[in-house]
Amino acid sequence: MRPLAYARVSGVDEAIMAVSRQERADYLAGGTTEVDLLRLDVLRPELLVDISRLPLAAVEELPGGGLRIGALARMNDVAQAPAVLRRFPVLSQALLLGASAQVRNLATMGGNLCQRVRCGYYRDAISPCNKRDPGSGCAALTGLNRGHAVLGTSEMCIATHPSDAAVALVALDAVVHTRRRGGLTRAIPADEFFLLPGDTPELEHPLEHGELIVAIEVPATPSAATSVYQKYRDRESYEFALASVAAAIRLDKGTVAEVRLALGGVATKPWRARSAEASLLGQPATPASYAEAARAELAAAAPRPANAFKVELAKRAIVMALSELTPASR
Ligand code: SF4
Repeated sequence: MRPLAYARVSGVDEAIMAVSRQERADYLAGGTTEVDLLRLDVLRPELLVDISRLPLAAVEELPGGGLRIGALARMNDVAQAPAVLRRFPVLSQALLLGASAQVRNLATMGGNLCQRVRCGYYRDAISPCNKRDPGSGCAALTGLNRGHAVLGTSEMCIATHPSDAAVALVALDAVVHTRRRGGLTRAIPADEFFLLPGDTPELEHPLEHGELIVAIEVPATPSAATSVYQKYRDRESYEFALASVAAAIRLDKGTVAEVRLALGGVATKPWRARSAEASLLGQPATPASYAEAARAELAAAAPRPANAFKVELAKRAIVMALSELTPASR
């Protein structure tokens, strides 16, 4: 681990100024990913600005039924907040399935959205990796890529996005609120907060240097109370998804009146399954409709020999999640 400077701040604008004015400065909150990557010599900041004591940890219910989640709220606190359990079970379940209790007690919501990929070539600090060292190549294209993405890939990067909570937030049309130098603020839809790798896999979010996530807003939506998060992985716990689904649905006389679907573990970003949603609207809530929607979504998949199984796994996961939410359809 390289020497670095550390500063603790007590105000939001003080933190933003401290990071903005130094090119190789970064924020430190829960540190559950960042400290690992410092030790591995993958991240090399010269200054860490500790924001863990800023007053950004509240989980507030909004008039109309939405939520405002402070960026520094701990994963466990959000997962167990009564309003989240009652109105957004998909988010609670995604958080609980996302990490061990120890990590959930430390990791923050803002940090969860900004966590880095789990690709082994990115984390070994020596392999060609366009995300860590732009222009160096992608070792995963011809290497071990069983866990890599089948949707949203490019020839520059095929790493999956690791977050479970982000999948639920994208399905729920959450909005990421930020603050920048000069007091400027932005509201970024969660689906736009995560960038596809394209030719610039090193850019994962549209954040400017020093721009700080201050809150995540989850709007009220009729289907959210009937929602679920399902995760499929190599072992029962402490493992990242091979495929996961965040699903919410509302029926009207047996017909799909509203549906929200997002996939994790199969794409380079939390993947809103808009083709599947479009396929389902107005259709009878049956396993056949669900299977057709899953087929429509995965038609764009570009698997490699080692991860082709993810296409079928994701299709079945969509059908399973929707069937669980609509037991009469089975
Ligand atoms: Fe790096 Fe992405 Fe390739 Fe992994 S898949 S080696 S993160 S460029």
